[in-house]
Amino acid sequence: MLVPFLLLAGGALVSFEGAIDSFEKQENVGLEELFPLARIEGLMLDISGVVNVEDTASKKVSVAKFKKTAADINYNFKIILTRPSQLPERNESIYRIQEEWNQLEDLGLEIVGSSSQAYKADKTAKISEFQLKLQEILQNVQELNYRLIAFQNTENLRQAQLVRGRVRLLVAIIFLLALTIAVICAYALSRSILVPLYRLQEGVKHLADGNLKYRIKLKTQDEFSRLANTFNAMAGSLEQSQTDLERLATLDGLTEVYNRREFNRWLSVEFERSRRDEHPVSLIMVDLDHFKQLNDTYGHQAGDEALCCVAQLLRKEVRPGDIVSRYGGEEFAIILPKSSVEDSVAVAHRIRREIAIQPIRISSEDRIHLTASLGLATFPSDVQSEEALLRKADQALFQAKKLGRNRVCLATEVSRSSPG
Ligand code: GH3
Ligand code: MG
Ligand code: MG
Repeated sequence: MLVPFLLLAGGALVSFEGAIDSFEKQENVGLEELFPLARIEGLMLDISGVVNVEDTASKKVSVAKFKKTAADINYNFKIILTRPSQLPERNESIYRIQEEWNQLEDLGLEIVGSSSQAYKADKTAKISEFQLKLQEILQNVQELNYRLIAFQNTENLRQAQLVRGRVRLLVAIIFLLALTIAVICAYALSRSILVPLYRLQEGVKHLADGNLKYRIKLKTQDEFSRLANTFNAMAGSLEQSQTDLERLATLDGLTEVYNRREFNRWLSVEFERSRRDEHPVSLIMVDLDHFKQLNDTYGHQAGDEALCCVAQLLRKEVRPGDIVSRYGGEEFAIILPKSSVEDSVAVAHRIRREIAIQPIRISSEDRIHLTASLGLATFPSDVQSEEALLRKADQALFQAKKLGRNRVCLATEVSRSSPG
């Protein structure tokens, strides 16, 4: 988040430094140009004094002083001409002043070199002429000076406007850049917080709606992901508990087929479906024969083992959609949805036969043989209600017992032999 501010500060510093630099350059160029010109002005004022000196000073000293000052002036003319100028007509003016000066220099030399016996009036006239011309040259020098300064000022102003424009552009670019970075950072930050929060919230919502299979998926490796892992572990153990509870509530604890309550529920469901869709549903009641004897002979535990073994056998002998349940004690009930009378009779006979021929395991070493009696009823061919279906199947079973066990009796046979 600090990046935009650092960029802004850095940009401001760079543009400020740039502005100062360009002003410094501009000033230096100006000074390099103006300084020799000011020097020429000063030297000309000096030389004016040299030429004015009356005969009090010796001629030799005056000539030497004049020549030295004149050489200085010439040197400064050279210097100024070597310096670059932004004023286009500067060199033209300098050449003109230099030319005027060269003529004056000759006159000045003549004045300071003339003997003291020279005609005094003539010398005074020449001095006046010299001073007059010198004044003109000084005026021209000053005028050039002013022009240079004015030009310099105009240039400074132009430069300032240029720098101001550049600084504005730079600041605008940096501002936009900083704004973009700030927006991107804010977006990234909000995503890194809001997305995991949303996913966690979704997870809690699913859990509250009872969807225990829902798991939160987060790609990050931070506190949110640790929270999501904890949530997932909690949902996992809740799902496991629910599965265990459902198992306990619906399955028989010993044989692991559906219990009596679940049988009742399925019977209602399948009977209603059968009535609605107009297809048959059959019910087979299975009761193991002489089971009490088995308990008495081999013990209760052997009886339990035998019940488990028979339950497994029943499940193997029916279709996946058929519902096998423990009706109570050594009695089982099997619902056969969409099964006609003929098909159901075939299933019942097959079950009876398999129980009779399969060795039933009662311990790790011992196997015995059992038989079972079966009663069968079908809706709608035999009965018209759910209760009647159960009753008729039970009566058929009773009939099978009565007729000697190890057999299948149909509901129709019950009606023939007993009115039930
Ligand atoms: P039938 O041929 O007339 O059906 O005779 P049966 O002995 O099978 O019938 P009965 O009703 O006289 O006895 C049922 C026996 O089933 C009695 C009971 O001890 C036994 N039994 C019921 N539930 C269990 C169980 O969970 N485990 C064991 N081992 N035996 C059970
Ligand atoms: Mg019984
Ligand atoms: Mg029995």
